[in-house]
Amino acid sequence: MAEKGLIALLEELISLPSVNPEHSKDVEINGESRVASFLHVYLESLGFDVEIDTVEEGRCNVIGRIGPDDPVKSIMLEAHMDTVGVAGMSIAPFSPVIQDNRLYGRGACDDKGPMAAALWALRDGLAKKVAERGIQIIFVGAAGEETGNLGALKMQRDGVGADWAIVLEPTGLDIVHAHKGACWFEIRLDGVSAHGSSPERGVNAINGMARVIRMLEDMVEEDRKKLQSPLLGGPTLNIGTIHGGEAINIVANACALRVDRRMLPGESCEGILSAVRSRLAALQAEGKIHTFDVTVVNKSSPFVTDHQSDLIARLAATCRKHAIDTKQVGASWFSDAGPLAEICGHTIVFGPGDIRQAHTKDEFIDLDSLQKGADILKTFFEDAGANSLN
Ligand SMILES: [Zn+2]
Repeated sequence: MAEKGLIALLEELISLPSVNPEHSKDVEINGESRVASFLHVYLESLGFDVEIDTVEEGRCNVIGRIGPDDPVKSIMLEAHMDTVGVAGMSIAPFSPVIQDNRLYGRGACDDKGPMAAALWALRDGLAKKVAERGIQIIFVGAAGEETGNLGALKMQRDGVGADWAIVLEPTGLDIVHAHKGACWFEIRLDGVSAHGSSPERGVNAINGMARVIRMLEDMVEEDRKKLQSPLLGGPTLNIGTIHGGEAINIVANACALRVDRRMLPGESCEGILSAVRSRLAALQAEGKIHTFDVTVVNKSSPFVTDHQSDLIARLAATCRKHAIDTKQVGASWFSDAGPLAEICGHTIVFGPGDIRQAHTKDEFIDLDSLQKGADILKTFFEDAGANSLN
């Protein structure tokens, strides 16, 4: 079980709908503003100075700071405020229910449970005590993680970083210190249409795309031979959608493919797409395809933090104090840690709850995990306040 106040805090966050606007157009439930207002007030009650940073029209990051401007150490806690959509859910998404030691609702584990655990950890004057020891805590509620790190990318552009960053996500209290990035792109081929009875008069974009698919598979196989990480495995490629052609008796004059290429640290979407474009140009020169266009749909950076990082050592020791046998792992999903790692000294992803329950039709968080997460973060900050972190 978990403390009543912690449960009430998470229930309150779940009851404030914050569906990512790309997942719902319904203004009654979409956008982060309700959670942002709540977080603003809550952080101020903990002693934080809060800044509302507009990311785009109607979207914002909530950035709370406590502690000196010139700190001995700055520690960021970052949780995203948006959730995925609620269509097809088998539970009431915004009316939290407790059953079998689980709290059910949209965002219970992704990402409101981890956010609640961290807020709960800093109450009773702990944030102020840590600040008095020369440590700055930066607590961020970020917009738009679910559709491509919108808020974290704004922080990256503005240089809002820290020495240590704990990105709060449901990792089952394991320490994720590397994850893959994603490069989502679209390839469009234009052909030349002709009557289906005389295909030699046209250029069939679907046939061309069949060659492109083989080319993409060959490319990722070559990359997998060169790039293998003991933590993350190799890069992967999934073709998610294909659309093309007009009618059975017309030579297809267009075909479009959407591709999800997962990247390892060291790879970039720009590098991958430039290789794809030069292979497409070669196919074009051979007359296998007519014209092509490649566009980025979305991208999120990979990251890796050295396993010898003192942030990892301290957090792992804290977990052991609470009898949690935490593992240091890599993940195939992406998070705000990708962009934040580029401006923070050491970055990890950590939090209560299980990623397997994220985005599900009956999302929940285990209440023991929620409480452990809060307890571990509390001890982590108590120790940070008690020790010199130079
Ligand atoms: Zn999440």
